[in-house]
Formats: sequence, C-alpha cells, structure tokens
Amino acid sequence: MSKIKQIEIYYVSIPLPTIFYPAWIPGFPQNENRFALIRVLTEDGIEGWSTGPVIGKEHATLANLIGPYLIGEDATDIETIQQRIREVSYIGWRNFWIEPAFWDIKGKVEGKSLCELLGGKPRTVKLYASTGELKNSTQRIKEVEQRYNEGFTSIKLKIHHMDEKMDNEQVQGTAKAMDGKIDLHVDANQGWRVAMISNAPLWDLERAKRFSDVCAAAGVKSLEEPLAMDDYDSLCELTKYSKIPVAGGELHSYGYPELKMMIERKCYSIFTPDAVFCGGVAQVWNVIQLLKKHNLRFSGHTWLNGISFAINLQIMAASGYADTEEIEYPYAPPGWTVEARDQILEEPFYHKKSTIETPTAPGLGFKINKKTLRKYGTRIGIMNQPRLTVHSLRSFGLKVSLLMDKALKERKTNTFNSNQA
Ligand SMILES: [Mg+2]
Repeated sequence: MSKIKQIEIYYVSIPLPTIFYPAWIPGFPQNENRFALIRVLTEDGIEGWSTGPVIGKEHATLANLIGPYLIGEDATDIETIQQRIREVSYIGWRNFWIEPAFWDIKGKVEGKSLCELLGGKPRTVKLYASTGELKNSTQRIKEVEQRYNEGFTSIKLKIHHMDEKMDNEQVQGTAKAMDGKIDLHVDANQGWRVAMISNAPLWDLERAKRFSDVCAAAGVKSLEEPLAMDDYDSLCELTKYSKIPVAGGELHSYGYPELKMMIERKCYSIFTPDAVFCGGVAQVWNVIQLLKKHNLRFSGHTWLNGISFAINLQIMAASGYADTEEIEYPYAPPGWTVEARDQILEEPFYHKKSTIETPTAPGLGFKINKKTLRKYGTRIGIMNQPRLTVHSLRSFGLKVSLLMDKALKERKTNTFNSNQA
C-alpha cells in the first residue's frame, strides 16, 4: 500500500532552437515544446511522473478536479486508478495521460522497470526517425539523406500537400534518390486533421487508395493515418484494398474499448496506440494482447517529450513485438532536436544507429531534470488532504463533511467496469 498524498500539475514550456512547423497543424509556428507534467507523491515519499499534451495552461484546475478521486488511494493499485480516472471522465475531461505516473510509483515500490512489471526484460529497441514538417521534394530528400548519414535505417515522412501531385512526386522522388538504402514510411496526418490556421487537405477513400498505390509502387513500407480515425468503414475498406500495410491508432482517447472494436474490424494492419493518449499503460497493454490474438502488428507511437518516449519505449520493449517492429523516434532538426525534446530529463534519449537501450531503472526509468523544471516549468495546481479538507469545510460545513468522511472510510470494495480488458 502506497497511499497518494499529493498531486501536482506543472505547465512546462521549453524553447525550441528555431521555429518548428508541425505537419499536423499546418501553418502553426511552434517555438516551444509545451506539455503538462503530473507529479504524484505518496505518503511513503515515492514520486511518480507522467506527461500530457497542452496548448497553454488549460490544466490549471485539473488538480482540483482529480484530487478528490485520487488522494488517499493506493497508487500501486492500477485497476482502481484506472477506474478513478474513468469516473472523472464521465463529468470532466479525459485524463488517462496521468496513469503512467502510477506505474512509475509501482515500479519504484517493487524495484522493477515498467518493462519488467509487464513481464518483459529491458532490451535494445529499433527506432525509426520520425520527421515532423511538411517539405518539398528537394528539402525532403536532403533530410532523409541526413538521417541516413546519422545511421537511421528507417524513416517516416509527413506527406499531405493540398496538391496531390506534390505528394506523389515526393514519394517517388525520395524513393528513387534513396534507392532502398533506408526504409520509407509515410504519415498522411488525416487521422485527426486540424485546420485552425492554414488549410489542410481532407482525404477521402478514393484519394487514400490512389496514394496507397503510389506508395506501394515506390516500395514504401507503410501508410499511416490516411483517413479520419473514426471513419471505421473507410479504414476497413482501405486496409483490405491497400498493397502496403495501413497504420494508425495513436490518439484514441476512449482507449481499449474503441481499439478493440477497430482490431476486430481490422481497421488497420499496424496499430500504434500511444499510452499517453489511449487509456494509459494498462489499456494499451491489453490492446497489444488482443493484437497478438488477431495476428496484427504493433508499433510504438510517441511525440511529446522524453517522458512519453520513455513510457512507450518500456511498453515496446515488453510487447513481444520488438524483434520485428520499431518505435517512433521524434527527431526533426533544426527545430525538433533531442535536447529540446528531452530537456526535462537528466539523460536525453540519444539514438545509436537507429536503436536505443531501454532504461533499467525502476519505474519509467528516468530522472526529472529539476533544474529544467525550475527554469521552464510552473506549478499550476496542487491537491492534498489538508486542501481537500479545507475545501470540503468551506463548501459543505462541518456536519456534512464528517458524514462524507465516514462514507469514504466505510467504502470497502470497488466495482469495476468490465470492458477495459
Ligand atoms: Mg502519426
């Protein structure tokens, strides 16, 4: 038993060396790596960390929301933690990104890395370099050559111009220039299209089919998110039609139940659930077990920062897929560098010839760089028992607060919804 004593939420904003234009928000000049951090502290002094995406300080009230559900619970009881986060989501917003922090604590309590908690052994994992910006053909070929010269054996290109011809030319031109020296994958970023600044192309099934033919003829190894992530019928049809594997599944915040349906329908050949986005480690782990039963492929997805990379790396290492599959390595200099991506960690994840070692330290396997956190982070929320008590007394008075406390102490058993696994 390792009781949750305090929850802290941080907003972190680390400057990028130069402006980075993420392909998934066309026209958005990203000048900082922004993310949320949660720090969970237990009564026995163990801390767990996780991270989630943000635009700004929208998580400023999150500690107030989740505190009453989580303070006092056993941090190592993942089943209860999953249930509590689920309960918050019914009337609040979905926050499964906090769940890996509890695995971090569980691992530290048991002296095991996440990989070991999941039944695996820390190991070498293959990476593919993941590009982040839209480019023209000349720029793209130069970028792929740079990654090849740095030792990468596999790379994923973001390709989705308004003009379809430019997409075709870029795939064909890059494939011809590299001549099989490096594996090429393509991401069309249609899964969760955002057009809040510049316009973004909106693919339909016919365009996706045409592009998958072009990719297949050019020897591309997989095509990621060529259609909206919830257009299940079209995804099934495309996956059946395509001569190359269709990949996707990174951002399904409904986690296991939705991905289970998509696996059963064979919406993709390769599923890429990210534990930060898709229901936490526990639900992604259950997705992986189901993929095995259905003889479907799994590949690790990640983008945010070194913490989310560490979480998904541990899962990839334990998954049983690491002999044949790769994990995404977000690396798109000069804007998205390893240092800007991982500065929140004491030890950034530098690749070695398209591979990386899974950390062996207990929990998620990293140490937070407290200096970076002080410099670029702001604590925007905090919740613990004294604060909860004050809040309760102010809102409900002493009599009702005592009744609530009594009910909480009498609650002995938890009932769980069964469709999470
Ligand atoms: Mg993607």
